[in-house]
Amino acid sequence: IYGAERKASSGPNILIESEWGPFAEQVNAYLNQCWQADPIIAGKTVAGTALHSDVRSPADRDNLVGQVTYASEGQVIEAIDAAERFLPTWQQTAVTERADALRRLADLLEAHLEEFVALCHQEAGKTIQDSIDEVREAVDFCRYYPARAEELFSEHLDLHRLDGGLAKWQRQGRGIFVCISPWNFPLAIFLGQVGAALVAGNCVIAKPAEQTSLIAARAIELMLEAGIPGGAIQFLPGDGATVGAALTADPRIAGVAFTGSTETAQRINRALSLRDGADAREPATLIAETGGQNAMIVDSTALPEQVVKDAVLSGFASAGQRCSALRVLCLQSDIAERIIELLKGAMAELRIGDPALPSTDIGPVIDESAQSGLLAHIERMKEYAKLLAQTPLPGKAKRGTFVPPTAVEIDRIDQIGREQFGPIIHVLRYEARHLDQLIDQINAAGYGLTLGIHSRNERTAAHIEARARIGNTYINRNQIGAVVGVQPFGGQGLSGTGPKAGGPHYLPRFTRLIPTNAQ
Ligand code: GLU
Repeated sequence: IYGAERKASSGPNILIESEWGPFAEQVNAYLNQCWQADPIIAGKTVAGTALHSDVRSPADRDNLVGQVTYASEGQVIEAIDAAERFLPTWQQTAVTERADALRRLADLLEAHLEEFVALCHQEAGKTIQDSIDEVREAVDFCRYYPARAEELFSEHLDLHRLDGGLAKWQRQGRGIFVCISPWNFPLAIFLGQVGAALVAGNCVIAKPAEQTSLIAARAIELMLEAGIPGGAIQFLPGDGATVGAALTADPRIAGVAFTGSTETAQRINRALSLRDGADAREPATLIAETGGQNAMIVDSTALPEQVVKDAVLSGFASAGQRCSALRVLCLQSDIAERIIELLKGAMAELRIGDPALPSTDIGPVIDESAQSGLLAHIERMKEYAKLLAQTPLPGKAKRGTFVPPTAVEIDRIDQIGREQFGPIIHVLRYEARHLDQLIDQINAAGYGLTLGIHSRNERTAAHIEARARIGNTYINRNQIGAVVGVQPFGGQGLSGTGPKAGGPHYLPRFTRLIPTNAQ
């Protein structure tokens, strides 16, 4: 059904042809460009270490996209010094001024849409649809957080004391915030974290994922152009073991916003609590958004065509490289055969290949290490799980780090092991009378990020929703693509600390309240 739908609409899948031509030309104009990322401290580009990395396109490893110079440990200290010097000024800057700078950044991002779409293809291997969504979400963050910050900072905080006086309070940024962002949303999550921390009055040190430093560097240039002062934003490309570790070891860091694996979040948490000299200060705040072992539960009342469409999108869009992506498709046995048949048909229709082509559904995974880990997992699963379907890769895929979309059938969730961050759906059949045990199995994995429910029985859907310990539950739809401002995103358990990004409770965690008179 999915394939038939696609065939019926000939031409590009997201843009109508007349619009696509000029847009593609502008995007293509950037495809031969070579980008550069260097550390930026106090508004100035500085020469990093001799350590640098060549950035190659995930779709074609022969295609050199740019070069990243890594920051040195000394530069980590310099960046923290610069942030510390500027902090009082930034904390005293009116919230409207900070908010306006971020809104100007949103305008600049929109004006540079084509360039960022090209960068997203080239550095992150993102399809056109994903690249446009990426820029859109970044823009949304840069407009949503300023609006929330203006509300938050105008809240009335003073209290009438029993002796007739007034206890006066003021909200301010917590201090120096480190933002460690992931490669799967190299612009949106990067700017979501950095924008929130900045507008709340923190000086920020941004450490992007090694794989996507070029996109982040370009975003920083636009931030400076938008009028965000150089003292407020320091940029330190580099690897986690050197730059990340040096940052989280420094007692002057007030907080860390991190998106990535659960293991790294746990490492950061330990590093923050072990800092020498930090005991005289407040404990650092950690805002972590991590992984998931996300399930979709489908009962026998569900609409099979809808289930397959939503499962394919949730499991395979962005090559499965979303924290929210579907990993375990749980099918009530009465409906399982029918859905598996449709799933095979839909997977046969997927187009894998060059992310810069409008007809491509699924691009590459981010790099060789991701590719080999996922392929090894598929091999391992073949030993005790049944291979249901695998979309063949086109010949050209050999040039990049592609992984074929794969569906395997398992008996228990714990057979999957750790989260597999790629286009693999594990199918699990269950009997209606074992629904509660199934939900308990999902809970027992310890994660709690997204859950899809497909059922036309409202009581069943409500029961599943209440029993599962999940951050974002989606009923009778796909389970990816939370929207800033209306679907705050974040999980519980091993999936993160909260508060949810893109929601009204995110910003307060970047601030503290201080008394402004003797009480
Ligand atoms: N916010 C994204 C979504 O809803 C996922 C973010 C992530 O992968 O970290 O699909």
